[in-house]
Amino acid sequence: MSSVSTFEPSRFRAITRANVGRLPEWAGLPAELERAIRVVSTVLPFKTNHYVVRELIDWARVPDDPMFQMTFVQREMLSSADYAQMAALVDGGAPSAQIKAAADEVRLRLNPHPGGQLTHNVPSLNGRRLPGMQHKYRNTLLFFPGQGQTCHAYCTFCFRWAQFVGLTDMKFEARETADLTAYLRAHPEVGEVLVTGGDPLVMGASTLERYLEPLLAPEFEHVDVRIGTKSVAYWPQRFVTDPDADALLRVFERVTASGRHLSIMGHYAHPRELGTAIAQRAIARIRSTGAQIRMQAPLLRHINDDPQTWAQLWTAGVRLGCVPYYMFVERDTGPQDYFQVPLARAWQVFREAYQQVGGLARTVRGPSMSTFAGKIAIDGVADVAGERVFALSFLQARDPAWVRQPFYAKYDRRAAWFDELRPAFGDQRFFFESAPNRLRAAPGRRLDVIH
Ligand SMILES: *Cc1c(COP(=O)(O)O)cnc(C)c1O
Ligand code: SF4
Repeated sequence: MSSVSTFEPSRFRAITRANVGRLPEWAGLPAELERAIRVVSTVLPFKTNHYVVRELIDWARVPDDPMFQMTFVQREMLSSADYAQMAALVDGGAPSAQIKAAADEVRLRLNPHPGGQLTHNVPSLNGRRLPGMQHKYRNTLLFFPGQGQTCHAYCTFCFRWAQFVGLTDMKFEARETADLTAYLRAHPEVGEVLVTGGDPLVMGASTLERYLEPLLAPEFEHVDVRIGTKSVAYWPQRFVTDPDADALLRVFERVTASGRHLSIMGHYAHPRELGTAIAQRAIARIRSTGAQIRMQAPLLRHINDDPQTWAQLWTAGVRLGCVPYYMFVERDTGPQDYFQVPLARAWQVFREAYQQVGGLARTVRGPSMSTFAGKIAIDGVADVAGERVFALSFLQARDPAWVRQPFYAKYDRRAAWFDELRPAFGDQRFFFESAPNRLRAAPGRRLDVIH
């Protein structure tokens, strides 16, 4: 059954629906799990790679293993009715066009475009929309290079899932950097460009350099660079053994040598991602270029919903020279019920993890929800004037004046997102919502950075 050659290191040795049946014998993927993957992956994206399979997943703990849950789709990610429908088509050998049509119907029920993500925050210049960018918070411009819109492996919980199954035309991909520099010239308030995706580090070093090169001109001296990526966890070979690994590090060096800050926003969701020799080597090599690594990830049931996991992640990260940055609340798209953690529990996990770590790891903030209005942190649960409330504040906001202003919502044990919360103390609206249109009525969740 197994073909060893499938597992020889190479750049994108992908495991997909097409070859999941050829996993090596030592993986021992039970037949019923394999079938579930075949069925669920008709709807949700599934792609992993030999590094994740061989070095990150603990196959003795499958299916509960957190790294298995992170890239292998699971039966419970679809409703029983949807699963049964897709299973019948797959088992009956239905033509692929029929499977796709049925899958698209299921996908549309999974809130594929949370919050009109394609249309909001897209900036324009001289009346022309610039689809490869988003500008929501004053200091930071998001940049989506057209060739960085896929990943080394797909996270089962990713809110970009619709893009990976072709449901979303990537209308916001950038095709050229001329728009970027023109926008920066017109917006001197932008102090950093955050290159994101997908995963921009699926791009070759020379492609990335072409995107970054124009930013290094003296006129953009005030602009720092961030790169959001999961490759530090899923494909550390990118920085160590890929044919252009050295070239990539030279690109990083060019950025830091120009006097800019370069931060790799590493998506690390579980301490095991930091545990391999090659992952640690990747961190050391990135840091040797003068770049900083920051760590962020969502809180996810089945993967990292306990305080010890986060405490270990942050402590191990600090030891390796990374800076804990954000814990996010998972969003409402795709298999949301499967991964959802109630806000009250999210705060408890954050707090108990924070209590366990040393001061150097307490740079982390969260749990944070990326809402239409901004990034809202749950600062705590408190009893105030006889009412149990969530204390909240903005870490980032559409209006910078809202940031770090405390505000309060009625405690709700089950609420899992901001739009399920109501103002405390009998207020009609939160302080940042102007009558009569509550901001919350606007698209609540949107396309934001995941890393
Ligand atoms: C999170 C985010 C940023 C970056 O925010 P930081 O707090 O600086 O990390 C920028 N733009 C958008 C749209 C975001 O969601
Ligand atoms: S979280 Fe990042 S690496 Fe994972 S699928 Fe989404 S964009 Fe790709």
